[in-house]
Amino acid sequence: MIENINMMKCPFCPNEFSISPPRIDGVTIPRYQITVCRSCYNMNWDGWELGREKLLIEHLKLNNIPIPHPNMNGRLPRD
Ligand SMILES: [Zn+2]
Repeated sequence: MIENINMMKCPFCPNEFSISPPRIDGVTIPRYQITVCRSCYNMNWDGWELGREKLLIEHLKLNNIPIPHPNMNGRLPRD
């Protein structure tokens, strides 16, 4: 069987993940119009940590997406 797997690199870490059904490992965050790997998503439930926040803000600026207010932890909300 030939598998046709579309892989995508996480914008926040070196992980690559499948974005082809039935195995979709990326998590799309509509507010930020970005797809990240599940481990980045799961590990930053309380807000994006600084290294990733920097990359996220660059992505938001580049795409003219509004930057939300920080959450109670002083971080950008995950979703
Ligand atoms: Zn990642």
